[in-house]
Amino acid sequence: MGIALAPAARVSALRDRTPVVTTLCSHSSLQIFYGARHEGLGTLGIAVGKPPRFYEAFPLARPDRFLSLSKVTDLGRHANTLQREGAVVIPTGSFVEYMGPEAFDALDVPVFGNRKVLAWESDREKERQWLEKAEVPMPRKYRDLSSIDGPVIIKYHGAKGGKGFFLAKSPKELGDFRPTGPYVIQEYVVGTRYYLHFFYSPLSEDGYRVRHGSIELLGMDRRDEANIDELYKLGAQEGLRQAGIRPTFVVTGNVPVILRESLLPQVFDLAARIVDTSVDLFGGMVGPFCVEGIVTEDLQFKVFEISTRIVAGTNLFISGSSYSDFIAPHLSTGRRIALELKRARAEDRLSEVLS
Ligand code: ATP
Repeated sequence: MGIALAPAARVSALRDRTPVVTTLCSHSSLQIFYGARHEGLGTLGIAVGKPPRFYEAFPLARPDRFLSLSKVTDLGRHANTLQREGAVVIPTGSFVEYMGPEAFDALDVPVFGNRKVLAWESDREKERQWLEKAEVPMPRKYRDLSSIDGPVIIKYHGAKGGKGFFLAKSPKELGDFRPTGPYVIQEYVVGTRYYLHFFYSPLSEDGYRVRHGSIELLGMDRRDEANIDELYKLGAQEGLRQAGIRPTFVVTGNVPVILRESLLPQVFDLAARIVDTSVDLFGGMVGPFCVEGIVTEDLQFKVFEISTRIVAGTNLFISGSSYSDFIAPHLSTGRRIALELKRARAEDRLSEVLS
């Protein structure tokens, strides 16, 4: 037996009934519902206001039922109903951000994965401690504005989809910086971005082993970020600044990418260390996670962020990816979540994958 994350009482009802995969109607919900349906599980969509009409266009990914709320933060009040239904909540970036990490953590409904990870992910300082302990190469961190001596990116805490970040090529460009919340200052790494979609199973004894269980690489994407990804079309930065255009990193979409094969040993090694360290720090980051980094011209993968749950880039790979096809056919991250739930239930190990 591995590490129990959920108290026995929270998961006991799920032994006698098929879990109902439940998530917010946003982000990667189509994939999550489609994967659950594929594996014969029930599905429940949490809608703010009326259920979104777009599900009518995608019948195979439409949840069986909806729970309509006037705001996401009301979800806690429906905990009893959700428990009775056999709901298992699948966290997504939007879900946690809209509800707030504290309210999400307090939800008295089984959540897929380890909710303790929230505290480590939503605070960039804590996330850095975790990655440094795992000896993962990261962009250099500056202590304060006065120590900056090169190009930097200044970021706020939490998953804000890159909103409001500030870029400066040199200290003299910091004059316009007006902080709007707690922030960190990182070296701006020049290279190519890759977002690697992993899945950590504490139950699995096959594949790429880590200390407890194994990890799988299910896909990879690069984000399209407005307006930075199109700025080159408008010419040099100086001219843009004069025109009052500031670079921003708001995600607008995703494109599939593939890493040169010789970099795979490096990234699997990093991912395994991140997972093993998470087990030591808080019992393990279970389920999907994304390692987000930049490959420099000397082929070093520098990690600027990890997302500790399903990321929207996985939506590209509903029928599988150039990586997941080597594991099983048609293996999306949504379906992988459903498979893990089914296996945990069959082996009476739900408390190891739920919290
Ligand atoms: P999300 O929640 O969507 O993952 P976020 O608000 O947590 O976003 P990051 O993922 O840390 O923010 O960064 C957003 C974007 O900024 C990245 O996708 C990348 O394009 C760019 N970026 C972040 N850190 C660096 C860095 N150190 N050097 C260069 N670019 C960076």
